[in-house]
Amino acid sequence: ESYISRLSLTEPHLHSFLHISDTLLRDAQLIDRKIEKGEDVGPLAGVLVGVKDNICTADMPSTGGSRILENYKAPFDATAVRRVKEKDGILIGKTNMDEFGMGSTTEASSFQVTANPWDLSRVPGGSSGGSAAAVSARQCMVSLGSDTGGSVRQPASFCGVVGLKPTYGRVSRFGLMAYASSLDVIGCFGTSVADTGILLHVISGHDRFDATSSNREVPDFSSQFSSINLVESKPLKGLKVGLIRETLEDGVDNGVKSAISGAASHLEELGCTVTEVSLPSFSLGLPAYYILASSESSSNLSRYDGVRYGNQVFAEELNALYNDSRAKGFGPEVQMRILMGTYALSAGYYDAYYKRAQQVRTLIRKSFKDALDDNDILISPVAPSAAYKIGEKKNDPLAMYAGDIMTVNVNLAGLPALVLPCGFVEGGPVGLPVGLQMIGAAFDEAKLLKVGHIFE
Ligand code: GLN
Repeated sequence: ESYISRLSLTEPHLHSFLHISDTLLRDAQLIDRKIEKGEDVGPLAGVLVGVKDNICTADMPSTGGSRILENYKAPFDATAVRRVKEKDGILIGKTNMDEFGMGSTTEASSFQVTANPWDLSRVPGGSSGGSAAAVSARQCMVSLGSDTGGSVRQPASFCGVVGLKPTYGRVSRFGLMAYASSLDVIGCFGTSVADTGILLHVISGHDRFDATSSNREVPDFSSQFSSINLVESKPLKGLKVGLIRETLEDGVDNGVKSAISGAASHLEELGCTVTEVSLPSFSLGLPAYYILASSESSSNLSRYDGVRYGNQVFAEELNALYNDSRAKGFGPEVQMRILMGTYALSAGYYDAYYKRAQQVRTLIRKSFKDALDDNDILISPVAPSAAYKIGEKKNDPLAMYAGDIMTVNVNLAGLPALVLPCGFVEGGPVGLPVGLQMIGAAFDEAKLLKVGHIFE
């Protein structure tokens, strides 16, 4: 009940949700009853979970932020959602996002723009901006997002919450609307590293409905927290941390740089050794990402043809039906990505763009592997700046894409990364949060969570 009144107070200002569950109280009462009867309940009992709108839910609409799926209701729950429900989590609603995950601000949502709770005139980041704003404003306790090129980490940084992008394959993508299938992963938001770890544990693990989900054992990420001695003076003694040099060059705000160097000093106080490392192919990540992500999306989004899913514009002839449904259903950013991707994949340009981007991807994987052979974790900023004003970059897609430089490489390499608040810069009524990104070796989320827990 307190969350329902909190929602009615905050939601008119924030617009984090596209849909709020109408069975919230009933769902909560069912858990209450279970507890009263002495039945076993899961680790999410009574926990309100927000779900990004590109993750399918059987009881609420799933639009992916797109007009083409307006009012669409999936006939099933995504595996991550099913697991949340099995562990007694309560779905509070579906959160706003850039259409199909394409964007960095939620301004590319077909329905509404979400505001940043720290300053309502600023963007919450994107594409999982609704999920991040909802946790930041305590509209829900944790939330699910998706990260193809930074969409969990960048909004976590802009909204001052914890965000985790798991290793590719750690969490089933079954029921996640595909943007770029080789990069997409469902991730978690929370107000603490411990909460985020609990949610990750619930949703992780092999799923027979997603052949790319990993068979690796899922450690109980949060059980390690109780054994960590937080009063010990150097709890991270011996941990080698590499600060990625290329992420602190020109174009990064001074306030962000000083927050990151403050975080590096804090890690040293905790016993880590921090050294600079170089990832030589770092700057190639951005162009490679935008070619690969657009290419994959142009193929994935061909399913939205007005026949199989969602809205249809009636026409006398089949091709006109496809064309009109897409022209009316897809927003301008999505149309541009489909055109870019189709171009990059076309016969005459395939070698020059798609194939070359795949080669760059291999180089990036290799340079991360080398850096992580020498270091336990790597650190960097999440974005070159804190949250900017709504509208500031809306008409300058290149400037917006450039903001993804710190995050896309991690998706190209398939690695896990944890973002947590590490400082503030001036701006807004009370200052604006800045996040620290910690990158780990594949399937080593446990280490990131441990370091993050001690750090915070
Ligand atoms: N901003 C990036 C893009 O628009 C990343 C989005 C994401 O991770 N879904 O592609």
